[in-house]
Amino acid sequence: MDMGAGNRTNESFASSLRYDPGYADRCARSLDEALGSTTAYKTWRALDPGPARDVFSRLAALPALTKADLRAHGPKGFVPRGRELAAGLASREIELVETSGSTGDRVTNVWYQPWWDAAEKASWRLNAHARAAAVGEHHEAILTSPWCTGFPCEDDYLAMHERTLGRFLYLSERSDPSTWSAELMDRMVGELAAFRPVVIEANPSFLARLSRHIVSRRLRVPSPAIIILTYENPSILHRRAIVRAFDAPVASSYGATEAGYVFMECEAGHLHQVTESCHVDFLPFAQEHGGPEVGRILVTTFGNPWRSLVRFDIGDVVRLNGSAPCRCGRTEGLTLASIEGRAISLTLTSEGNAVTQGAVDRCLSDIRGMVEYQLVQTGPGACRLLFAAEGVEPRLVGQAAREVLRALYGREVVVTTEVVEAIAPDPPGKYKLTKAAEPVDSDRLLDERFAPRPR
Ligand SMILES: [Zn+2]
Repeated sequence: MDMGAGNRTNESFASSLRYDPGYADRCARSLDEALGSTTAYKTWRALDPGPARDVFSRLAALPALTKADLRAHGPKGFVPRGRELAAGLASREIELVETSGSTGDRVTNVWYQPWWDAAEKASWRLNAHARAAAVGEHHEAILTSPWCTGFPCEDDYLAMHERTLGRFLYLSERSDPSTWSAELMDRMVGELAAFRPVVIEANPSFLARLSRHIVSRRLRVPSPAIIILTYENPSILHRRAIVRAFDAPVASSYGATEAGYVFMECEAGHLHQVTESCHVDFLPFAQEHGGPEVGRILVTTFGNPWRSLVRFDIGDVVRLNGSAPCRCGRTEGLTLASIEGRAISLTLTSEGNAVTQGAVDRCLSDIRGMVEYQLVQTGPGACRLLFAAEGVEPRLVGQAAREVLRALYGREVVVTTEVVEAIAPDPPGKYKLTKAAEPVDSDRLLDERFAPRPR
């Protein structure tokens, strides 16, 4: 029997999930449009088993779309026939937005604001607090790297009106929280009191830094209706610091410039797929690497007239919520316990099994006194941990950290620790909680029954 890639039957995890009645049609429309009326997917057409098969099996028979594909075909390759990129840009219906991504790969994306806004609205419906707060014209304070969105200024300070854009206030013009002065953080607190945002949208690491300042100085801040964490994957430590300073519900919103809003955390703490605006294919890892609960995801977007995105490898690892339904009552699409971090943030145990950033985070966050950390796997069998401690002797924090990391990675792994004042984010302003000197090839970790078709 030929078990070669050409004849292999790929399984679809999506086939086992529940969706609303129109969902499969939305998937099929997106797939047919991509294959039938864009140039980027031309070579995929021959691989499509065709409309006689259900849409999830058709998707499972296809490769994954990579950032390299996005670069190779350029924005034009993903515009469906009947639309002209140049005309859309000239009329300002669309614009081009560049993303650098964590791997340093620059991608040029077509940005169509109405589609983005609709996807955001759909995501907010998955959280009762966000849904109630989303009155449309509400005040929103944003605390993220100003290089991602806002008004960057690293050598001077900008007045509040210079960082205000309509109903949005950008709290920081500086992109490195490890160098924020007490005066700058006092200014942010004062502005929150004056601006009274209904929503705070923040990089968790940035808001955690401000929160620690608020708690240590015993400052009072008005609480928004909801705090939405985005831009980076929150550490348990970040969330803990934030809820000490703010009396507001906190929810993680997960997506990407390329793919829009993909998951939203509900009021019960799980992440639900935004089934109105995208399909997600889950690719479980093999059992020794955390499968079948842990795996990678591919995103197919719905209804973006300017961009056809099918099975886009968004580059993150997720953990499923298991078989018990979420307490919030939402049952459609994928439900996650957590986003486990970037695929390039994966590290390996001494036996060569995958360790997600989330697994490292759950271990280190339990250590009393730990407030910030960064773990680097410097080579096989060696890890280096930088950490900042508060309220507990750093020596004891380091000792506890070495113990839990050896339990996670293997007794023979050499763990070195170093106390630092603070951890600085990587440009353009995202914290890396874990890194590997030699990146793990995450294709190798997949359960091969669900692996995308190789090219
Ligand atoms: Zn839920």
